[in-house]
Amino acid sequence: MGKTVWIGDVQDGLHDEQTVELKGWVKRTRGSNKIRFIVLRDSTGTIQCVGKRDVLGDEAFESLKGALIESSLILSGTILVDERADGGHEMTISNVKIVGSVDPERPFPITESAMAAADGGETEFLLDNRHLYLRTSRMTTMLKLRSSAFGAIHSYFRGQDFIEYQAPNFVAGAVEGGSTLFEVPYFGKKAYLTQSWQLYAEAAMPALERLYTIAPSFRAEKSRTRRHLTEFWHAEMEMAWATNDEIMNHGEGLVRHIARTMLDEHSPELTSLDRDIERLALYADSPYPRMRYDEAIEILQGKGVDVEWGQDLDYSKEKVLTQDFDLPHFLTHYPKIAKPFYHRVDPDDGNYVLCHDLLAPEGYGEIIGGGERTWSEEEILKRIDEEGTPRDPYQFYIDVRSYGGVPHGGFGLGVDRVISWLSGAEHIREVIPFPRDSRRVTP
Ligand code: ATP
Ligand code: MG
Repeated sequence: MGKTVWIGDVQDGLHDEQTVELKGWVKRTRGSNKIRFIVLRDSTGTIQCVGKRDVLGDEAFESLKGALIESSLILSGTILVDERADGGHEMTISNVKIVGSVDPERPFPITESAMAAADGGETEFLLDNRHLYLRTSRMTTMLKLRSSAFGAIHSYFRGQDFIEYQAPNFVAGAVEGGSTLFEVPYFGKKAYLTQSWQLYAEAAMPALERLYTIAPSFRAEKSRTRRHLTEFWHAEMEMAWATNDEIMNHGEGLVRHIARTMLDEHSPELTSLDRDIERLALYADSPYPRMRYDEAIEILQGKGVDVEWGQDLDYSKEKVLTQDFDLPHFLTHYPKIAKPFYHRVDPDDGNYVLCHDLLAPEGYGEIIGGGERTWSEEEILKRIDEEGTPRDPYQFYIDVRSYGGVPHGGFGLGVDRVISWLSGAEHIREVIPFPRDSRRVTP
């Protein structure tokens, strides 16, 4: 009996010729009545393990033979270097323990052919079995990339002296408009699930000056697109005294840092997804161009897209616009009529607001929305009334401005969208373990 080791370390050559113990799950199995080949998987890698009847004895060999795909096993044996084996190593099994067996009447349903039938998209069958689908190599890779992105967001903001701050998830008012609000019964009253951390972050801005969060946001998105979830992970920041340009600098810095971290930590995984590493390096190393909304409208109209000045850009338009971009682009200065009351009007031209969206290239579209906030009490009241929004739910938000309001701003980044773009996923639900959309809250 050797000590328990990671398969990843074995494949890295740390245990050559040693007798060790591996704990894992059966990925594939084949063989005859005399010899079994088990590809064992743990969270760090896979390795082929070979069991022979004449070494193991009949009882142990029979239990190994009965171990179906996704059974959990503890295998002891010797690690051999073998050029022909996947990863360059193989284990000769000397001892077998079946920990969790799989019923032959109910074999593991996520087979290669079930995935092939889904042909890149996920069928309802795979979504119904999401709790099992998580174990496939594609999904495991996505979850590792996801973890890398979350780590990068924390390290970026902490490295820039931002303070992590939490807002409530039950709220009384909308940030992004009533149409996507989830209403929940709240002890005889109505509450809503938060669409954004922003309003509560602005309340803490005079206390903390630079703050950030990573938290879920909820939006009742009725149309199902490849970039909308009803529950998504939102990385948001708020910063005192900041201009639109300074906020964009942080958005750019953050996205480049996420791309760099993913490359540093997971280049082989990105390659296994057929992602072009050179392209990601470009996203990590290049400055992102900035263009005004008006210029984007001209480009779109030049391409024959039916769009008028004053409209917000939906996915279909962003897709056309970003198809030929080789880098993310900021669009700034949207028309005031296209944006909600908290966006600060441009003092140089009252038709525009000081805001930005960051659009990812390759047709992915918006990944960040941000800008300066309407910061004086007088102006926020004017904007709220103009919009016909009731003042009541925003009383605290107005009050904050009556006591030493200062210019400030921030942005929200869709974490799942960024991961989906950087990993080259076809659909946002490929990068989140249990995706929520208008049709599905199970499993
Ligand atoms: P869209 O126009 O694409 O619906 P939005 O303008 O509603 O986006 P914001 O309110 O600016 O988005 O939210 C900030 C960021 O949060 C967006 O740039 C996007 O990355 C992300 N985001 C917004 N809604 C969703 C959603 N339903 N699912 C996943 N991510 C989202
Ligand atoms: Mg939206």
